[in-house]
Amino acid sequence: MRRFTVRAHLPVRLSALGKLSTNLRWSWHPPTQDLFARIDPRLWAELRHDPVRMLGEVAPGRLDELAADAGFVAELDRLEADLDEYLDRPRWYQNQQAAGADLATGIAYFSMEFGVTEVLPNYSGGLGILAGDHLKAASDLGVPLIGVGLLYRSGYFRQSLTADGWQAEHYPALDPQGLPLRLLTGAGGAPVLLHVAMPGGRVLRARVWVARVGRVPLLLLDSDIAENDPELRGVTDRLYGGDQDHRIKQEILAGIGGVRAVRAYTRSEGLADPEVFHMNEGHAGFLGVERIRELVTGAGLEFDEALAAVRASTVFTTHTPVPAGIDRFPVDLVRHYFGASGGDESALMPGLRVDRIVELGREADPSVFNMAHMGLRLGQRANGVSKLHGIVSREMFNGLWPGFDAAEVPIGSVTNGVHAPTWAAREWMDLARRTVGPELVEEGRGWEQLTGIPSAELWATRTVLRGQLVDEVRRRVRASWLERGATDAELGWTADVFDPDVLTVGFARRVPTYKRLTLMLRDPERLRALLLDPKRPVQLVVAGKSHPADDGGKALIQQVVRFADAHDVRHRIVFLPDYDMSMARFLYWGCDVWLNNPLRPLEACGTSGMKSALNGGLNLSIRDGWWDEMFDGENGWAIPTADGVTDEARRDDLEANALYELLEQSVLPKFYDRDADGVPVRWVEMVRHTLQSLGPKVLASRMVRDYVVDWYAPAGRAGRAAVADAYAGARQVARFRARVEAAWPAVQVVQVDSSGLPDTPVIGADLSLRAYVHLGGLDPEEVTVQAVLGRVGPDDDLTDVVTVPMSHAGAEELGQVYVVDTQLPRSGAVGYTVRVLPHHELLAADAEPGLVAMPAR
Ligand SMILES: *Cc1c(COP(=O)(O)O)cnc(C)c1O
Repeated sequence: MRRFTVRAHLPVRLSALGKLSTNLRWSWHPPTQDLFARIDPRLWAELRHDPVRMLGEVAPGRLDELAADAGFVAELDRLEADLDEYLDRPRWYQNQQAAGADLATGIAYFSMEFGVTEVLPNYSGGLGILAGDHLKAASDLGVPLIGVGLLYRSGYFRQSLTADGWQAEHYPALDPQGLPLRLLTGAGGAPVLLHVAMPGGRVLRARVWVARVGRVPLLLLDSDIAENDPELRGVTDRLYGGDQDHRIKQEILAGIGGVRAVRAYTRSEGLADPEVFHMNEGHAGFLGVERIRELVTGAGLEFDEALAAVRASTVFTTHTPVPAGIDRFPVDLVRHYFGASGGDESALMPGLRVDRIVELGREADPSVFNMAHMGLRLGQRANGVSKLHGIVSREMFNGLWPGFDAAEVPIGSVTNGVHAPTWAAREWMDLARRTVGPELVEEGRGWEQLTGIPSAELWATRTVLRGQLVDEVRRRVRASWLERGATDAELGWTADVFDPDVLTVGFARRVPTYKRLTLMLRDPERLRALLLDPKRPVQLVVAGKSHPADDGGKALIQQVVRFADAHDVRHRIVFLPDYDMSMARFLYWGCDVWLNNPLRPLEACGTSGMKSALNGGLNLSIRDGWWDEMFDGENGWAIPTADGVTDEARRDDLEANALYELLEQSVLPKFYDRDADGVPVRWVEMVRHTLQSLGPKVLASRMVRDYVVDWYAPAGRAGRAAVADAYAGARQVARFRARVEAAWPAVQVVQVDSSGLPDTPVIGADLSLRAYVHLGGLDPEEVTVQAVLGRVGPDDDLTDVVTVPMSHAGAEELGQVYVVDTQLPRSGAVGYTVRVLPHHELLAADAEPGLVAMPAR
């Protein structure tokens, strides 16, 4: 059957409803949601708060009635004006620029998934939600960002349970016509159709849908069109479905098609091309290859010159702390899609040699193409997503910078954040607007001032939100049982599931093994006792989807469901199927405690706990990801980790035991210890401290400002320097890299002399070093020579090092002379050495080329 959606014809007086429903800003703007609800409250609830569907299905007579309703029309006009003001007013970004900050003129942000709202279900989990929050915060701050991704015919799957608790998957098809999207059109109003060459002379075509996320456009490529053959139509069928071959086609479309979509969009809107390209994870890495091709064929650059220009303006964010989490393809598959039949020029990327493309994703195993390695080779700036993940990433990718310590690997970190207007309950947002003012709230600032709110009001808000969650839990438990085959008559008990006054713990996330969904079940009797304690019970809400191909994950879900199905505990523990944004919201609002027990350090950041914290939920978590840097001893609890224990079962035992103990000895007593007015004073103090200490740090606006200032602005400047004067900078860098690579085998530290040290030196004692260096034909300005001092180990390796630049002091027979006067940085066994690195002002770090020369041992 062919299905399509017919949009309603709005009365002229109500035409602004079209604009309000298609700009997704409504999804984080409660007054606009209220207006839609007013149209038809029953239908609004039934359609799960989807304005576009609502306008399609509401009775035309009702619209005519509203057009004549002066109160409704006045509110509509007010909200339209409010949206216009939101879209036009200069914001933080424009104010920074007005104050002289040299910021990028535009940023293209690529991601394979975007979770903006549940009515556009184009995400599977954390990565997509993060991308959605990034766009929203960028919009609030006025950052000139363009989002780029794919539109999947059926998004991610919807989850239900079978009678025996096994996960079942459904893939409801989406009709783009029924979504808040418009087609990108070109000259003459015809839809833009992108072309990407496929092997065997085939062509993959895609149209481009544009979603408006406040001020930010989101371009979504769609291959499901009649112009494609059936196989290619299916490229954008599902998110994370299919085999490697399917997957590489999706990534080719997202990366290469994505750049072409950006060009078509900016042309059609008369905008400048973005200066910076940001890869949110390596999936869209082929965007860099397309940009190299543009420069090679359009500007006549050599591959290496184009690479230098692309690198300068590319930011790469990695999200996984484990090699197994990285996207890798067989090299042969890459050659199949990029290669030509015969010659060595790429058919997909005319003007480029296939070998050069393959080289970008090289790893130790020559048969594998590694998308993260490509990200690092194409992006001069790279980051992990929490401080701990930065450390883990530097270790994980150390191999790309041989000769450098992990600490020197040029990968930084930006800790993720969450969009407050999306995730904080309306009750908190209203309180925040009253307490700190609407403007600051819009930009995600001033959150810490919530600390002034009286305890009784804080507690009352928490209680209201817990009550809403309890209602939602009852509704969903009932619906789930009906789906599992129960009848109404058996389900009377679901009306009493959960208790609005009982401590409510939430655990919801995807179900890969490392997140340990079932850790809480490690000692089932101990959990049962906690749930059923007559005076101080706990209630536990659990949710999460397992990847469809992961039967192990499904077995974990089944284990939880079976436990929760037992008659004696089913009023205190529930598994809610189909975790998505619409459910998540209730969980973050209403849970008193947010539980997270991953295997450290496998959680790159995690964001659900941040959303809970924004609502005054207290985190009870392993010190992993964001919690490792933001736990301060009083804003929640850290579950002690048995980091060194290699026996996994034993580690689980230890950590589960620690979890139960924390609940029994600290969490529960604090929650149930009430004053004369029934307020848990010590609990509320922790809530207050959480809002104050975490509020400002967990916000996506903080994250986006970090990206703007520390990543996009430098990448914009580096990109500009590379392309200025007919790409003089890019040519210089390419020449420089070729020169140093050729010269490097001859670069040598031939001798190091020290003087000034007494026989028994003390810490801080003066040390003069003089090094003789052969530069293999390089100029002294083309290198940095450094003294490296640190603790010396049994194998003569240096740790805890301090590096001190040395000055060039002429040339002698032995070589170029470098000197420095410094002090001994520490006591104990100290050693020093001297090393040489290439240096160029257009590189972001001297470690970037991965070349270093030290004295021969
Ligand atoms: C926030 C969120 C996630 C990510 O949570 P993690 O803590 O990173 O696991 C996943 N799904 C939904 C629906 C979310 O809202």
